[in-house]
Amino acid sequence: MNIVVLDGYTLNPGDLNWDELIKLGECKIYDRTSPEEIIDRSREADILLLNKVKLPREKIEKLPNLKYIGVLATGFNIVDIDAANEKKIPVSNVPTYGTLSVAQTTFAHLLNLTQRTEYHAHTVSYGKWSMSKDFCYWDFPLIELAGLTMGIIGFGEIGRAVAKIARAFEMNVIFYDITKQPDIPEGIIQINDPDDIFSKSDVVTLHCPLTDETNQIVNTQRLKLMKKSAYLINTSRGQLVDEEALADALNSGQIAGAGLDVLSEEPPKYDNILLSTPNCFITPHIAWATRSARQRLMDTVIANIKSFQQNKPQNIVNNWSSE
Ligand code: NAD
Repeated sequence: MNIVVLDGYTLNPGDLNWDELIKLGECKIYDRTSPEEIIDRSREADILLLNKVKLPREKIEKLPNLKYIGVLATGFNIVDIDAANEKKIPVSNVPTYGTLSVAQTTFAHLLNLTQRTEYHAHTVSYGKWSMSKDFCYWDFPLIELAGLTMGIIGFGEIGRAVAKIARAFEMNVIFYDITKQPDIPEGIIQINDPDDIFSKSDVVTLHCPLTDETNQIVNTQRLKLMKKSAYLINTSRGQLVDEEALADALNSGQIAGAGLDVLSEEPPKYDNILLSTPNCFITPHIAWATRSARQRLMDTVIANIKSFQQNKPQNIVNNWSSE
């Protein structure tokens, strides 16, 4: 089988290896692929693997050989699922590989907002502490998490892991999810109206997938519901947030801060408004990228392909076999 990886660099910039994939077929592995290069590079592919290269309907329809699409990530919004269904092509993702790493990044952002650790370390290194009249100083309010309410949108793998850590910090946890959730851990409450998450929480954190319903789930109206002292964390997908509305909310002091690992366009243009918005801290989509998480991702990609080759595809996210 011909296997083509269109954008393998971020999964494996050199610290992992592709050996197990190479055993599964004739492999072509590209670091990056532009939209114009997709068809030429994928024409012979039976199996196409891609991370953030977009595969819209018009590309899928030009690849008659294609039998399987493997997304090298959890979020699979880059693939036109309806088009894959119509062509009866199974699409797999890689769930859970990054759950703990993404949860950890959520708290890296939250702790940065509440302690400004990097800012304070930086001021120490340029001499501010040495010049201080007192044995300590802090330039921003320091916020204790215990007793604050964390509101989680999307109570799946990552949302649940975040909730567990929040409880360890003695935070109250509420969440909104479109499905009624079984096995809700003690002390955590499911809320039926997403607006209540925004009005009641000290920290709102997004862990739902990007869908038509969740596109700009954070918008002007919802930001207005938030407490002035509240923080927004987004480690899920950039399009969940109306970025102009968030910039307005941060500029006007409507909310206290934001920690974002994702933006609506990645990489962002230099003039993305959030890059210059105060109290907005952005990391370059790194939540998934610890070496441990990427190794797990690689292992699951291999297992997904093997199961497809044995006619028992796993981690399938579309209705590819229905009429
Ligand atoms: P998951 O499928 O386990 O959980 C998603 C949850 O969101 C589910 O419980 C689902 O019912 C809920 N949901 C779906 N639509 C909703 C809606 N309209 N409103 C509220 N809840 C809704 O997925 P996960 O493993 O927890 O991952 C969540 C998201 O995190 C992924 O979709 C992906 O976009 C993102 N992610 C980001 C990174 C990163 O590096 N920043 C890495 C991995 C995943």
